[in-house]
Amino acid sequence: MISSIQGKYFMTRPVSVKKPHGRNNAAVVTAPWSELSIDASRCVKCGRCLSVCPVFRESTREPAGARGKLALIECTASGEVAIASARLKELISFCLLCGACAEICPNLVRGDEIIQRSREALSSRQIFSSPTLVALSHILPFPQRMDNLHKVGQIALSRFLRKIPGESGLYWRFPLSRASKLPLFPQLADKAFLPTRSRQHDPTSGSVAIFVGCVSNYIYPHIAEAVLAVLGHLKISVSIPREQGCCGLIAYGLGKMDVVRRLAKRNIEVFGSTSPGPIVAFCSSCSAHLKSYSTLFADEPWNREALAFSERVQDLSEFLTGVGFCSQSDRGTSAPSYRVTFHDPCHLRRKQGIFEEPRQLLRSLPEVQFIETGKEALCCGSGGSFGLKHYDVSMRIFQRRYRSIEEEAVDIVVTSCMGCLLQFINGIHYYNKAIRVKHLAEIMQESL
Ligand code: SF4
Ligand code: SF4
Repeated sequence: MISSIQGKYFMTRPVSVKKPHGRNNAAVVTAPWSELSIDASRCVKCGRCLSVCPVFRESTREPAGARGKLALIECTASGEVAIASARLKELISFCLLCGACAEICPNLVRGDEIIQRSREALSSRQIFSSPTLVALSHILPFPQRMDNLHKVGQIALSRFLRKIPGESGLYWRFPLSRASKLPLFPQLADKAFLPTRSRQHDPTSGSVAIFVGCVSNYIYPHIAEAVLAVLGHLKISVSIPREQGCCGLIAYGLGKMDVVRRLAKRNIEVFGSTSPGPIVAFCSSCSAHLKSYSTLFADEPWNREALAFSERVQDLSEFLTGVGFCSQSDRGTSAPSYRVTFHDPCHLRRKQGIFEEPRQLLRSLPEVQFIETGKEALCCGSGGSFGLKHYDVSMRIFQRRYRSIEEEAVDIVVTSCMGCLLQFINGIHYYNKAIRVKHLAEIMQESL
């Protein structure tokens, strides 16, 4: 069977193979794999998903796409591929979880979700390095420890990590050191946003509660400030709960569901003490993940509370169009100054079905001439930890997205996901330093 997989799906390197139906195989096939196999078997191998998969486009290797990965999952469940195989783990990690395959699948197979669940099944088998596991389990769920890590990180980056030579094996033990070599790897902010700004806003009295997210808290606090400025302009009072934490999306992408649920419970509890208005998240990956909390818990009362939480969550673009920002904005009669395009984060367009809202907001700004470059719904290649683990492929995916922008000679690229923002800042710096990259809230603040 595996040889037929190699022949049929063009695998370039073999994965470890166990004899089918052998005595040993019963021990390796566990319940999650049987369930995954049932879902994966709904794939009829038509190959439509390969035409839209950004990773397959750049690697043209069958296991890069959903079809190949689903076949691998079936073979793993039947015992023909060893669960402990390093090659299997590497191939399962080779996915952005962008959801493009699920969007186009005629058989309604949720390739991205099945791949994520297979990471969950693999995560119990120690596929992560020790530092990653420590960070996920013992630091990420605790805001105070994250604040302390932020302070240590400022020192470590400047004094140690940026000085690791490119050829050193330490790159792989400390992924941040690799990231820190990127042309425009951001500096950690001098002061995190939450410890200072949360004190200035009563957590129980705002008409909306703000979810800040890790990147804005520790790297780009000026984006959170821009959000406050836009909401202040609309005379909307806000609360900023100090004890909120990471949304959990990074842990979700790595399959660490125990950490994901712990983070979700914390945020549900913390925001449960705010007044019952919308929870506005201005990173679209965070907003998508917060909306999915309702799917994390099967048991009461968490199921009910998670559902109530998720129903309150709105992405910033969704919230601002809902409260009528566009109708209040005065475009005047002067000619626009900038050609501006919007990059759709996969977590906004595919996972939340939000497409028009950011465009409406940008078109309402006086200095903006909106240029559409997003018809093909191309991913930028960030994909959470994908960009660090598979940097070269990630940048080739970005290059494809960049070409669609370059053709239109835009002045500013706007997006609303912190992962996309980091990817664009890094990639645009490499290809064309004249183009500026901004978060949606920043360009809106500038027009006030
Ligand atoms: S489009 Fe759907 S059914 Fe066709 S190969 Fe991809 S996952 Fe399978
Ligand atoms: S989720 Fe995206 S990257 Fe992963 S297999 Fe599907 S289309 Fe490819």
